[in-house]
Amino acid sequence: MKYIVCLKQTPDTAELPKITPEQALKGNEGVTKVMNPWDEYAVEEGIRLKERFGGETVAMSVGPDEVDEALKSAIAMGCDRAVRLWDEAFADSDYWSMALILAKGIEKDGGADIVLTGKMSVDGNAGAVAHGIACKLGVSLLTQVAKIVEVGDGKITVERLLDEGRETVTAPLPAVISVVKEINEPRYPTFIRIRKASRAQIPVFSAADLGIDPAQVGAAAARVTWTNLVKPEPKKREVVIIEGDTPEEKARKLLEYLIDVEKVL
Ligand SMILES: Cc1cc2nc3c(=O)[nH]c(=O)nc-3n(C[C@H](O)[C@H](O)[C@H](O)COP(=O)(O)OP(=O)(O)OC[C@H]3O[C@@H](n4cnc5c(N)ncnc54)[C@H](O)[C@@H]3O)c2cc1C
Repeated sequence: MKYIVCLKQTPDTAELPKITPEQALKGNEGVTKVMNPWDEYAVEEGIRLKERFGGETVAMSVGPDEVDEALKSAIAMGCDRAVRLWDEAFADSDYWSMALILAKGIEKDGGADIVLTGKMSVDGNAGAVAHGIACKLGVSLLTQVAKIVEVGDGKITVERLLDEGRETVTAPLPAVISVVKEINEPRYPTFIRIRKASRAQIPVFSAADLGIDPAQVGAAAARVTWTNLVKPEPKKREVVIIEGDTPEEKARKLLEYLIDVEKVL
């Protein structure tokens, strides 16, 4: 069995509020970048699949040189190796082009039985790339996966997290699955694996290597274009102190406040 985990390098969530719309549009946020937190769950599950069913787990990302850091973090957690896909032509690609690049990267690497992604990225927030990869590869798509129940006989059975509960579904392999954080608890890398990761050589595949015509990707090929990017208004925070001589008086005043001012009761 072979598992490919697609991961994105994104700004550290603590630094997201510092990024201006202009920096985001240039793709040069100027802040510390880490593995997209949602993708840590996909990496962990890719490693657990290898431990449960045997095989190889490969980390894959689209991005420039700096993305090697995130890929090395995946190797430090337990991935066997990593592959990076990058070409100047890939800059400013939309979700659909990004999915094409990843699908071509997966094919170039010899394919996979299961492709794992996070639920979404903390910067783009689209939650669209997994759907695009499955579409481009022509394979099953399972989203919101909270548990992998079984893999075997050319099939995968998972539990999907829904608003109302969970549903169990089975689909033929190969499959693309996007995972939610309820699926596992990502492990911390061991010292030995961090050393192994620091020495890892990560091959880079260009548009030509992947057989991608540069006209198919990048800003010119984007079907979805960002027309306006604004920061949300900062949330107003207010602290209300309810005074009173007794607990009963404080409770009464709190009730009055909730009814008369907040109008929540
Ligand atoms: C300078 C710049 C300009 C852009 N212009 C546009 C534009 O005009 N139109 C537009 O639609 N978008 C644009 N984008 C956004 C870009 O298309 C998205 O960053 C990208 O498609 C991924 O979408 P997302 O971050 O919302 O990922 P999601 O769909 O939320 O990610 C889901 C999962 O897919 C995987 N994944 C996502 N990205 C990668 C990756 N790079 N490598 C490996 N796996 C990945 C991860 O597992 C992730 O958890 C631009 C981005 C930049 C930096």
